[in-house]
Amino acid sequence: MKQAQVVAPEKLVYRDIAPPVAGAGEVLIRVRRIGICGSDLHAYRGKHPLVSFPLVQGHEFSGYLEAVGSGVTGLKHGDLVTVQPAIGCGVCPRCAEGLFAECDKLQFIGGALPGAGSQLFSVRADHVVRLPDGTDPDDGAMIEPLSVAVHSVRRLGEIKGRFALVIGGGTIGNLTAQVAVKMGAAAAAVMETNDFRRGIAEKLGLVALKPGEGGEGERIRAALGGHVPDVVFECVGGERPLNLAIEVVRRGGGVVVVGVYEEPPRAAMISVQDKEILLAGALMYTWDDYHTAVDLVSGGGVRLGPLRTHHFPFERWADAYRALIESSGKTMKVMIDV
Ligand SMILES: [Zn+2]
Ligand SMILES: [Zn+2]
Repeated sequence: MKQAQVVAPEKLVYRDIAPPVAGAGEVLIRVRRIGICGSDLHAYRGKHPLVSFPLVQGHEFSGYLEAVGSGVTGLKHGDLVTVQPAIGCGVCPRCAEGLFAECDKLQFIGGALPGAGSQLFSVRADHVVRLPDGTDPDDGAMIEPLSVAVHSVRRLGEIKGRFALVIGGGTIGNLTAQVAVKMGAAAAAVMETNDFRRGIAEKLGLVALKPGEGGEGERIRAALGGHVPDVVFECVGGERPLNLAIEVVRRGGGVVVVGVYEEPPRAAMISVQDKEILLAGALMYTWDDYHTAVDLVSGGGVRLGPLRTHHFPFERWADAYRALIESSGKTMKVMIDV
């Protein structure tokens, strides 16, 4: 079978390797869709400090069960599944609470561990999530980023009745806004520089704002029906959006940092202290967030289709990266069809 390996920065090759088998406690997945995430692009370009080459990518994916190893129950041949790719040590106090993202020994499929970038992928069955009948494999491959959004929205407690601002209208920002609304936020506005991405937000019924035109605080308040945001989600990963979040959130409000920073920002900590802002980071999800994401998709609570802008065949994965790197600004979620 073919496996896509990134052997050096921006060098992706296909290797013919022996197909894996489902060992005890494992399943074998015939991979169908792989979503490309911002962190994948980072790693592909050799700009991810925690990843070394060669690298098999793919942590957002879906596929059909090809074989089930001994001792595996509740899963059968033909099931459409996705995988929860974050693996904690399983024994520390954090893992015991289900907070594996906070485990000191956290490992990630498609990061330090090989990802699903192959025609067949074997993985431990206890990280497999069976998707409800009728689920679109494209949606199945987006449960992972949706779980990030679910976790972010829950990070500072109940969102119900609160006014939310999301800075950054990429996949995670868009999903964060959709989830906030679905979970009962009084209103959620998205701030995004890119016209195309703002258009997608609007198409999904979200209020979308363009930053950098002055009077931000006033325009945000107007977008939230006259309210100052109770919570701001920083989904860009930059100094300016972070400081905008700190500036516009109400006194005593919360800022959730979801974006990944390339450079250490100079943050307006004077205001964080003075306004008693709760500042929280969000990396990934719990099992509960993962299952909530599945429910949100099967219940039709969030719409993933409008976020998918491109599909590339497995053999042209490098072209998918090229499209993202040379983006005309009209890309969002790019999928690989295996
Ligand atoms: Zn991802
Ligand atoms: Zn642990």
